[in-house]
Amino acid sequence: MELENHAEDLASDLGVDKEEVTADLQNLVEYSVPIDEAKQSLRRKYGDGSSAGGGTPSAKDIADITPDDSSVTVTGVVLSAGKRSIRYQGDDHVIVEGRLADETGTVDYTSWEDFGLSPGDTITAGNANVREWDGEPELNLGESTSISFDEDGLEVPHEIGGESDLADLETGDRAATVEVSVVECERRTIDGRDGETDILSGVFGDESGRLPFTNWDPAPEIEDGGTVRIENAYVQEFRGVPEVNVSEFSTVAALEREIDVGADTTTMGVGEAVRTGGVYDVEVVGNVIAIRDGSGLIQRCPECYRVIQKGQCRTHGSVDGVDDLRVKAIVDDGTGTVTAVLDDEITEDVYGGTLDDALEAAREAMDQEVVADTIREEIVGREYRVRGHLSVDEYGANLDAESFAESDDDPETRASAFLEEIDGTAAELEEVDA
Ligand SMILES: [Zn+2]
Repeated sequence: MELENHAEDLASDLGVDKEEVTADLQNLVEYSVPIDEAKQSLRRKYGDGSSAGGGTPSAKDIADITPDDSSVTVTGVVLSAGKRSIRYQGDDHVIVEGRLADETGTVDYTSWEDFGLSPGDTITAGNANVREWDGEPELNLGESTSISFDEDGLEVPHEIGGESDLADLETGDRAATVEVSVVECERRTIDGRDGETDILSGVFGDESGRLPFTNWDPAPEIEDGGTVRIENAYVQEFRGVPEVNVSEFSTVAALEREIDVGADTTTMGVGEAVRTGGVYDVEVVGNVIAIRDGSGLIQRCPECYRVIQKGQCRTHGSVDGVDDLRVKAIVDDGTGTVTAVLDDEITEDVYGGTLDDALEAAREAMDQEVVADTIREEIVGREYRVRGHLSVDEYGANLDAESFAESDDDPETRASAFLEEIDGTAAELEEVDA
């Protein structure tokens, strides 16, 4: 639904001026407040009586809460409680997010008031609003919610605290606790909402894999090669993959122990990996069934570094292209396909020559496609183990390869059986590509 329509709905529900509601909504959405959250806050701002009406809703088990409930009363144990700052109508506003559990299940919550929730507390939340987030119910604890702390703690089959492996973190996770090694780290100056500010960004690793991070309020403990324990981090999607966000409310402490990064990285089926919607560090094994156009010797725009065709950049017009090597290889393991994108170094490896060699070959043949042809002969029909960052967009799944090595498990028999099976698929894909 368009913002306009949301605004219209709200305005007529609340009986207030549509333009005013539109401006407020616009403002919230610009600060990355999800639309549902934004609408909830405006309902509060304009005093929507509907959620508070009809007395206190009846008590429910967490497993029985559905997005169709408007509000509920629940008793549960606070598994996690993490503070985060959002900007609302020009003011910074601290919210608390986390997860609540009872014997029947768990539910995420956002608290707009500071109720002083801590992990391990057993609480009864009276009149908690229910909203839908990604198809699941979520609780909104606000002005109209009453919180009472129960002396008799509830026993729940869940661990208190948000401890997690990097591989298990998902976009939307709040109040996460991780123990990681700082694999990469750089300090950058960005144009933040309060002017220029320094942040740290890089990559964390643990035994389960790696994830990129941003540290909005640089912690001295986060430095290249160090190991740290971070409490109260949250996870947001950035460029198609989950990213760990370390904020001013996170606790960072240096760790003594070593972390063997990637020791337990799991290999996933292509279909499974694509269905995650994006994973930063993943390994797949599959057959290269074709290479796409735009592989081999290519030219990039000197301004924006995008690949150009016939000396024309879509943004910068006629430019002097910079020669480069890359491969876009379609990898298929029978469960799905992904386009493995190989950078210049890996492409030199599979081509068996340098950029200069490729330029030489192209000059000799008076056709730069000979480079792609050589690579095609080399890799199509063979099985590879590809590790890298997987992202999914409307055009399909891309795997930015960090390593690309021929699989050692009996490639020839698997490859030939496989090629027979997917012959049709390969033809189809090449058609789409053309
Ligand atoms: Zn350009």
